[in-house]
Amino acid sequence: MSNTTELFGSMVFSEAVMQARLPHATYKEVIRSIHHDKRLTPEIATVVATAMKNWAVEKGATHFTHWFQPMTGVTAEKHDSFIHPTGDGRAIMEFSGKELIQGEPDASSFPSGGLRATFEARGYTAWDPTSYAFVKDGVLYIPTAFVSYTGEALDKKTPLLRSMQALNKQALRILRLFGDTETTSVRATAGAEQEYFLVDKSVYDRRKDLIYTGRTLFGARPPKGQELDDHYFGAIKPRVAAFMKELNEELWKLGVVAKTEHNEVAPAQHELAPLFSTVNIAADHNQLTMEMMRTIAKRHGMECLLHEKPFAGVNGSGKHNNWSVATDTGENLLEPGDTPAENAQFLVFLCAVLKAVNEYQDLLRISVASAGNDHRLGANEAPPAILSVYVGDELEAVLNAIMHDESYSGGGKEPFKVGVSVLPRFPKDTTDRNRTSSFAFTGNKFEFRMPGSSQSISEANIVLNTAVAEELRRFADRLEAADDFDAELHDLIRETVKENIRIVFNGNGYDESWVKEAEKRGLLNLRTTPEALPHYLAEKNIQLFEGNKVLSEVEMRARYEMMQENYAKTIRIEAMTMSDMVRKDILPAVSLYGGKVAKAAAAKAALGADIDVSYEKASVKRLAELTAMTAGAADELDDAIAQSADIASCEELSNFCRDKIFATMSELRIYVDEMETIAGAKCWPYPTYGEMLFSVR
Ligand code: ADP
Ligand code: MG
Repeated sequence: MSNTTELFGSMVFSEAVMQARLPHATYKEVIRSIHHDKRLTPEIATVVATAMKNWAVEKGATHFTHWFQPMTGVTAEKHDSFIHPTGDGRAIMEFSGKELIQGEPDASSFPSGGLRATFEARGYTAWDPTSYAFVKDGVLYIPTAFVSYTGEALDKKTPLLRSMQALNKQALRILRLFGDTETTSVRATAGAEQEYFLVDKSVYDRRKDLIYTGRTLFGARPPKGQELDDHYFGAIKPRVAAFMKELNEELWKLGVVAKTEHNEVAPAQHELAPLFSTVNIAADHNQLTMEMMRTIAKRHGMECLLHEKPFAGVNGSGKHNNWSVATDTGENLLEPGDTPAENAQFLVFLCAVLKAVNEYQDLLRISVASAGNDHRLGANEAPPAILSVYVGDELEAVLNAIMHDESYSGGGKEPFKVGVSVLPRFPKDTTDRNRTSSFAFTGNKFEFRMPGSSQSISEANIVLNTAVAEELRRFADRLEAADDFDAELHDLIRETVKENIRIVFNGNGYDESWVKEAEKRGLLNLRTTPEALPHYLAEKNIQLFEGNKVLSEVEMRARYEMMQENYAKTIRIEAMTMSDMVRKDILPAVSLYGGKVAKAAAAKAALGADIDVSYEKASVKRLAELTAMTAGAADELDDAIAQSADIASCEELSNFCRDKIFATMSELRIYVDEMETIAGAKCWPYPTYGEMLFSVR
C-alpha cells in the first residue's frame, strides 16, 4: 500500500471501523463507554467480540491476545487462536464476549511486590475499550489492564486509567464553576518524544554489555564524538532513512501518528515524535513505538538502543512527555483564552499545575527514577534531578503582578485582577523555549523533560494527573463554597502563586549555580534512585493516591518494593556482566598482548644495547600495573555482589548497590578504559566507541 492516508489506521479497530461494523445501538454504547467510563454489558461485549473477530480475520489474524503492561516496563502478551473445533473434524473461528472482556494469564511470573504472597497467585486482564484493538503480525491485540484476583493493580495501565478518572472528575467541577455546561468529559493528553540510538548489528553482537544491559560498561573516549555539533538536525543517512520510512509506515498502520523525525545531538542518535493523544493511548502507542523501533532496526541490520545512557561521555536519550488537559468539546485547558473569564480559568489550571509540581516534586522525581536514568539526569544533556517549572518571562511577570497586586508591566496601569484583566498572548513557537528546564510551559502544554528513553510514560502521567486532580479538588471545594466567586477566585490564585512561586525558575537549569539556588529555595534534589524512592511512601503521597482512588496503600507498598528491587537487579546484572567481560575477555587479551610486546622488546634488545625499547617497556609496565588493579577491582566487585545477596532490607540493598557495587564498577572502568588506550587495536576484544558510534554509515 503506497497511499499513506489509506495506510493510516488500516490495522486498527477504530471508532470509524466500529461505526461501520456494529449495529448502531451497540456502537453508541461502546462510544459511551469509551468517553464516559461506562461499563459495557456482557451482551454488548458479545456483539463487539464477533465484529472484532470478523474484522481481524479479514486482516489476516488467526490469534488474539490480551496485551498488557506489567511492572517490568515492557508489554506482555500470550496468543490464543480463534480456532474452535466443531466436533466433526472441522473448526470455525470464534471469539466470545467473555474472551474479549477478561483473560486470565498466569500472574505468578510477573513482578507483584509481594501482592501475590498476600493474596492469590491468579491475576486477570480486563479489556480497556478506551484504547483501540489492533492487528499486528497475524494477532488481534486487545489492550487490557492487569490486576490481581482481588483487584489490586499489577500493571501501569490500571492506575493510569484511574488517574484519568480522578482528573476528569475534578476538572469538570472547575469547568462548571466557570459556567461550562457543555463539556461532558475532560482528558489528559500526552505526546512523547522518543530518543534512540542506532548501531550496526555487527558491532552490537560483539558487545556483551549492550546485549545484557543495554549500555556500554567500558569504552575509552573516541577521537571524535559530538563536539562538532554536526549531527543534530543533519541530513539523515540513507540507511537510517530507510529504517525511518518503514517504521513510520508500520506505526501508521497501527494508528500511531508518527509525525516528526530528526537526527539528535550525539552521533547515531535520533528522535521520533508522534502527534499527541489521550495519555492512555499515548502510553500504549509509545510502548508500540519502542517495540517497533527494535524490531524494524533488526530488519535493517541494526540494533536500536533505548537505554538512557548507552555511551558515557556522549549525550543520553530522554523522552519528553508533553502534557495538557483537553475537553471533549475540543478545548485545551492550558491554552490562554481571549477573554478575562477564559484567562481566569486558564490561571486556575496553571496554578493547579504549579502547586502540584511543587508539592509532589518527590513523586515526579520518582516517576522517572531508574538505574539508567540516574546516569542522565544532571549530566550535560538533561535537566538536573531538581523539579522546577519554566513559565517564560511574560507569564512570570503576570504571576508577579497577581502576587503583589500590581499592574502587569507589559499591559495597562491597573493592578492585575483575575477575571477582569486580559493576559498577554504567549508565544507558542520555539523562540521562547528554555530547553534546560525539567518542566516547561510551552505556550499551551507542559513539557516534562525528565523521563528516560526506555521508561513507560505511564508513571509520569499517573503522578501528573493525580497531583493536578488533587489541587483542582481543593480549589473546587473552596470556590464552590464561596459567596463571592470572583473575589474568592482572585484570592485563591494570588495565594497559590505566592505559596508555590519557589518552583518557578526561568534560568539555565544546567548551570551549577541553579543547584545552589534550588537548595536555598528548599527544593528537593534527589540525585539517585535509592535517594528518591523512600519518599514514595510519605504520608502526603499515600493520602494523595488513596484520596483520589488511584492507588491504595497496599498497592503503593507493593510498587515501592518493585521499584527498589528493579534498581538493585539492574545494578547487579551490570556488575556481573562487567566481571564476566573483565575476566573472560579483557584481562586475558591484555595479558597476551603485554607478553607479545615484552617478547618483541627482548628480541630487539638482544640485537644490541643501543636499541631503544623504551616504548615497549613503558607500555608493558603500565599495562602490568593496570591489569593488577583491574584484577583487584574485579575481585572486590565479585565480593560485593556476593555480599549483596545477604541483604534483606530493600532500602539497604539499593544503597549498597549504589555505594559499594556501583562505586567499584566505576573504579574498574577507569582502569579498563586506560588499558584500551595503550593496548593495540587488534588485541582489544570489543568494538570501540568510535566503531559503535559511527557504525551506521
Ligand atoms: P520540541 O522538540 O520542540 O519539544 P516537538 O514538535 O518535537 O517539539 O514535540 C512536541 C510534542 O508535543 C508533540 O508530540 C506534540 O504532539 C505534543 N503536543 C502538542 N500539543 C499538545 C497537547 N495539547 N497535549 C499534549 N501534547 C501536545
Ligand atoms: Mg521536546
